[in-house]
Amino acid sequence: MDDCIFCKIIKGDIPCTKVWEDSETFAFLSTNPNNHGHTLVVPKKHFRNIFDMDEHSVTSLALATQKIARGVYKGVKAEGVNIIMNNEAPAGQAVFHAHIHIIPRFTNDGLHSWNKSTPYQEDEKEQIAEQIFNNVA
Ligand code: 5GP
Ligand code: ZN
Repeated sequence: MDDCIFCKIIKGDIPCTKVWEDSETFAFLSTNPNNHGHTLVVPKKHFRNIFDMDEHSVTSLALATQKIARGVYKGVKAEGVNIIMNNEAPAGQAVFHAHIHIIPRFTNDGLHSWNKSTPYQEDEKEQIAEQIFNNVA
């Protein structure tokens, strides 16, 4: 992808602060970190997000994410981490090259994740679970 910022970072055409890489995966610090050590884990192959990734690429991204999460957790002496993937713009995706956020967390660090609860009406739960089940692919 010629105009993809993360493809350019992986190729070395745009500088980054690299954390780790292997043959399929590249990890670097976010330029706009939620906490210090906020790391982005990306497949070297270009995908838009979770929906167009193949099984092998999802597997290798997940395995790399676990290893790098351990590195983040110990490396910045975090008390926890959030592992987040934003998929499509309404979910917060701004860069359309698939990536996982590893965000170090500390007690009372002021980050608030999802703070809204949307209760179900009667019978809604079963219907929604069935709709999801029918579309698992
Ligand atoms: P999204 O909102 O797409 O899930 O996350 C995009 C992430 O990429 C954010 O953490 C943002 O700070 C980071 N980011 C955007 N542009 C650059 C860049 O040029 N270099 C680096 N290192 N991170 C970037
Ligand atoms: Zn890309």
